[in-house]
Amino acid sequence: MKNGKVYLVGAGPGDWSLITLRAVELIKTADCVIYDGLVNPALLGYAPPTAELISVRKRTGPKPCDQETINKLIVEKALRGKTVVRLKGGDPGMFGRAPEEAKRCAEAGIAFEIIPGVTAGLAAAAYCGIFLTDREYSSQVMFVTGHEAAGKEESNIDFPLLAKFTGSIVIYMGVGGLDQISARLIEHGKAADTPAAVIANATLPTQRFVYSSLDEIAGKCRQEQVQAPAIIIIGKAAERDVRFDWFMSQPLFGQNIVITRDERGNVVFSEKILAQGGNPIRYDSIEIQDLTVYDKIQTVLGSLEDFDWIIFTSANGVRLTFEALAKLGKDARSLARAKVGCIGIETAACLGQFGIKADFVPTVYTSSRLAEELTKHTGIKNKKIALLRSAAAAKDLTDALTKSGAIVEDVGVYTVEPNQNEPTELIEQIKSGKIDRVTFTSPSTVKAFFAQVRPGLISAHGVKVVSIGPVTTEQLKELNVIVSAQARTHTIDGLIDALIKESK
Ligand code: SAH
Repeated sequence: MKNGKVYLVGAGPGDWSLITLRAVELIKTADCVIYDGLVNPALLGYAPPTAELISVRKRTGPKPCDQETINKLIVEKALRGKTVVRLKGGDPGMFGRAPEEAKRCAEAGIAFEIIPGVTAGLAAAAYCGIFLTDREYSSQVMFVTGHEAAGKEESNIDFPLLAKFTGSIVIYMGVGGLDQISARLIEHGKAADTPAAVIANATLPTQRFVYSSLDEIAGKCRQEQVQAPAIIIIGKAAERDVRFDWFMSQPLFGQNIVITRDERGNVVFSEKILAQGGNPIRYDSIEIQDLTVYDKIQTVLGSLEDFDWIIFTSANGVRLTFEALAKLGKDARSLARAKVGCIGIETAACLGQFGIKADFVPTVYTSSRLAEELTKHTGIKNKKIALLRSAAAAKDLTDALTKSGAIVEDVGVYTVEPNQNEPTELIEQIKSGKIDRVTFTSPSTVKAFFAQVRPGLISAHGVKVVSIGPVTTEQLKELNVIVSAQARTHTIDGLIDALIKESK
């Protein structure tokens, strides 16, 4: 059998989008991805469904993996003809065991490539507005591992050299031994008031930044309970201009926000929260079940040409309708004869992806306004209207349109089921004050969430509840949940605006 190939790939420092295109390309074609604890798990989503995903986190987990096991694993997979992506945090060559892994490949005659990544030291500096080099104060940078410092009498770190060094010193794996590192630097002549910064969880929404003088930085980190992974930056650069703090000054930074949509919806929502610096905590409270597989629904979808109006009330309805049409060998032309209406710009944007421009969107994004405004907008008497939406949706839209003389076919293209989540972890987080807000985007998310988490728990721990609109708020009130804010525009973007406004 022909040998496979090994790629030693840098995954970047934490934020999944800080990976290179080349790395993503390789993950997409891997037979086997062997990844470290510091790799963002979201990146594994790029791997083909058939790929074998092997976690080799060293410190934690039920069975910590030693380096020899990892070396053997890489070689063994490649000898079986597999394309192996060895995915490592940051840059593969920076303070990792990649040299050993490369050596073992070379010895076994296995071809390999090394794909660089954004290393934590550079990312940490960038994400707190530190410039490691500057024409005025630093023309040199030193990368050091602090690991050897802890608990060793003889350290490999050249403290006399570091003490003399006038540029920026970037220390990896040093936060546990920071007392010793700073003491020895000062002992060898470094000024006690040299600026020092520690950045933990760099590039992630949980990033921490601690700044002090060299003699006090360890104590301050202890006081603020800063934990690994962290980067230490010593030198004038650490002083930074606070106006450069672009990341931690984002409007939702430091906010832990629970999102309760279905899996797909939560992915979209997460990205929007991250873009504002917030920390999305995903709790997929509901699941969308496709009903277009049923004959009855297929019959309607197969005869959309017979309708005067086709109305969508959510992006899910649009997506599932078009997927079902494709399976029936049809496409957007099925909607060519009818006028198309929808609630909200998000549903309209989803229609746009399938080449349809909505003829009608109400000014307020609720079903009741849709019925009212549609009736005013056009004569709907005796017109055939297909509502392609959730089977669980309230019937008031159907009733209102029927009352105006329309012939309505209410088609449930999907249904929403509560997810069987295990809420223990979330409940613990709420109890320990780690959750700031919970958001709701529909009555079904409210019902599903509060079937698993007691409403009283939320208010008892000061968690604020933010709702997308009046129908969702109504459902929350029914469960005696206090709503602290409601989005002005009833969309995800409107909800983000409400979150920002509330956190000011
Ligand atoms: N190859 C990696 C470094 C591996 S050593 C790289 O290039 O980044 C592991 C150390 O990297 C950690 O102890 C910590 O010092 C640093 N590190 C990794 N990810 C980090 C992060 N998100 N924030 C701060 N430090 C990080």
